[in-house]
Amino acid sequence: MPHEYPALSPEQKKELSEIAQKIVAPGKGILAADESTGSMAKRMQQINVENTEENRRFYRQILFSADDRMKGCIGGVIFFHETLYQKNDAGQLFPKVIKDKGIVVGIKVDKGVVPLAGTNGETTTQGLDGLSERCAQYKKDGADFAKWRCVLKITPTTPSNLAIIENANVLARYASICQQNGIVPIVEPEILPDGDHDLKRCQYVTEKVLAAVYKALSDHHVYLEGTLLKPNMVTAGHACTHKYAPQEIAMATVTALRRTVPPAVPGVTFLSGGQSEEEASMNLSAINQCPLHKPWALTFSYGRALQASALKAWSGKKENAKAAQEEYMKRAMNNSQAAVGKYVSTGDQGAAAGQSLFVANHAY
Ligand code: 13P
Repeated sequence: MPHEYPALSPEQKKELSEIAQKIVAPGKGILAADESTGSMAKRMQQINVENTEENRRFYRQILFSADDRMKGCIGGVIFFHETLYQKNDAGQLFPKVIKDKGIVVGIKVDKGVVPLAGTNGETTTQGLDGLSERCAQYKKDGADFAKWRCVLKITPTTPSNLAIIENANVLARYASICQQNGIVPIVEPEILPDGDHDLKRCQYVTEKVLAAVYKALSDHHVYLEGTLLKPNMVTAGHACTHKYAPQEIAMATVTALRRTVPPAVPGVTFLSGGQSEEEASMNLSAINQCPLHKPWALTFSYGRALQASALKAWSGKKENAKAAQEEYMKRAMNNSQAAVGKYVSTGDQGAAAGQSLFVANHAY
């Protein structure tokens, strides 16, 4: 039996749990705007825009300078390192622009995936070296939460036990380091939607992965009240021929979470994982309507499903900035409704609302 050596003071715990709760307050979710420079290259390519630092800054400014409606829908914004030190046209640092709206600033701290040799194409995520120092600096520079993404794949032979255990452990090490620096860790074990597996198989794998993650978090003395979980929704594989209703996805998702995620965790902030904007809103609303007891806030931390229409509307033209901002606000407000189970689909509105955002073997 391990002996207990306190990892965090009562004051540290209080700060962490208050940050986590603020991010997932009712009707609020997260804007994931932490695409790496490489991921932005792919996004920009889709709209024929050059991936320059200025274009990335200008695009992020469109999102961050949205009007006061953003305050009611967005509890946190995840930044990429470069963006944390960029300014708006008025010369204000972006973290200040976000904080002035009462929104919590977050930072992506992982350094991407690397192969796990001897597996069938599986990966772990790197970035632990120097992480404590980076977290301390990010905290000074305005970040109060962080994100670290691990990736697991469903095939007939994966995820392997090694990939499950290794990724759970690295997420727990990251979470522990963040908390020591006053940063709330978002724990993200993403199971990719690639494949033709059915809903049941995704539910089974999700349960096994989440159970391993919470065992590792416990082993590493992570304070669950000061964490958030960012999982995939339980969906069938992208190439599965059977299409499931949002209610089926919701039941499978909430069932998997109830079996594995302790009620001490304040919030579950789903990634959109290649779902269309509309699907991501409808599924989130169905999850919140699911007639099972749900002890956590269930909300969004969407990248593609909050930005696809906005990107398209912008298309790299200054004069489209307002229209792009409206598209982003529309999705943010829809998802805010979905986070309280009240989103009613208005049909495929928006420049890319119904379009699949699936990217095979997606990197972030
Ligand atoms: P998507 O919503 O585009 O899947 O991305 C969210 C995210 O932050 C993945 O790490």
